[in-house]
Amino acid sequence: MSTVLAVADIRNGEHRSVNFEVFSAAAKLAGEMGLSVTAVFIGNGLESLTGAAGEYGIANVVVVEDPALDKFSADTFAAAIAEVAKAKGAAVVLMGATATARDVLPRAAMRLDTALAQDTIAMRADGAKVVFTRPMYAGKLLGEVSIKSMPAMATIRSKAFKAEHSPVGATVEKVAVSLPTPRVKIEELALENTGTLDVTEADIIVSGGRGLKGPENWGILEDLAKTLGAATGCSRPVSDEGWRPHDEHIGQTGKVVSPTLYIAVGISGAIQHIAGMSSSKFIVAVNKDEEAPIFKASDYGIVGDLFEVIPALNEEIKKIKGND
Ligand SMILES: Cc1cc2nc3c(=O)[nH]c(=O)nc-3n(C[C@H](O)[C@H](O)[C@H](O)COP(=O)(O)OP(=O)(O)OC[C@H]3O[C@@H](n4cnc5c(N)ncnc54)[C@H](O)[C@@H]3O)c2cc1C
Repeated sequence: MSTVLAVADIRNGEHRSVNFEVFSAAAKLAGEMGLSVTAVFIGNGLESLTGAAGEYGIANVVVVEDPALDKFSADTFAAAIAEVAKAKGAAVVLMGATATARDVLPRAAMRLDTALAQDTIAMRADGAKVVFTRPMYAGKLLGEVSIKSMPAMATIRSKAFKAEHSPVGATVEKVAVSLPTPRVKIEELALENTGTLDVTEADIIVSGGRGLKGPENWGILEDLAKTLGAATGCSRPVSDEGWRPHDEHIGQTGKVVSPTLYIAVGISGAIQHIAGMSSSKFIVAVNKDEEAPIFKASDYGIVGDLFEVIPALNEEIKKIKGND
């Protein structure tokens, strides 16, 4: 029986939170298509992480271990995915739309002579095919894509699918594959650790634009983010100016986010920014210009001076949360 393959993305020995969404989406799709579902873990020393697949409805787990996988290389990881897809007769291959997936999955697709739908936000079975929905033209329209070749491959946007806890007993199989000598050898991964929540994994984001006037004013956003348990994000000019780190930059050329709540503060709402946050569930904008385009993309808008609105909002939320 062919299978739906869910590829886990492990960073620093931990699951990316999108993995659980991938597992759930894969299990659901497999159910709709009458196929089995298999999670794939690539790398060494991942025993303690494989149990999560069973927690999210995946009964078959494949682990590919090899000394060549000690250090990340897009070549070897792509080869491992392609080999498992072939060995298991995968009909569909899914992975979270992470930076790693952007590096690895196109290479795996090339090895499998098939196509890849990037950054999908919905999917449904249509007979033996899968119809993926993905934003196109900077989020201006949604396209439906189905892939004629096998396996159909896709990355899924973080937070666009629900991680549904649905435990099943899982069996773990170790699979040996032949791996190529990597053309690029990674000597060291220097990960910036700002100690803050990654915007792609946050449920709430408080995001600031040029309306904040300078980095010295970010404290009011950080205070609100702290009250809400939110991550902080920003528009591109803000990170270009060095007011905030680049990993907070949201938009067409930055990170794409889909939190439950996105609060845009002093952000005008240029199309390139909207492209990165329009799939948020609720969008709240604070801007002193009532004509600012951000209001068209928002569910709730506050027209006012952010330097008055944000501290007042923070105080009110603190009162409601009782941690005044
Ligand atoms: C190829 C390309 C790619 C791009 N990619 C991205 C991207 O990925 N992400 C991105 O964000 N941008 C991107 N941009 C830039 C984009 O076009 C906009 O220039 C940018 O988003 C504007 O940032 P901003 O809203 O912070 O600043 P501005 O457009 O200057 O807006 C500031 C807003 O703050 C409001 N404001 C000012 N003072 C206050 C106050 N006291 N209280 C309340 N409101 C106030 C103003 O009314 C205004 O609406 C890209 C541009 C290009 C050409």
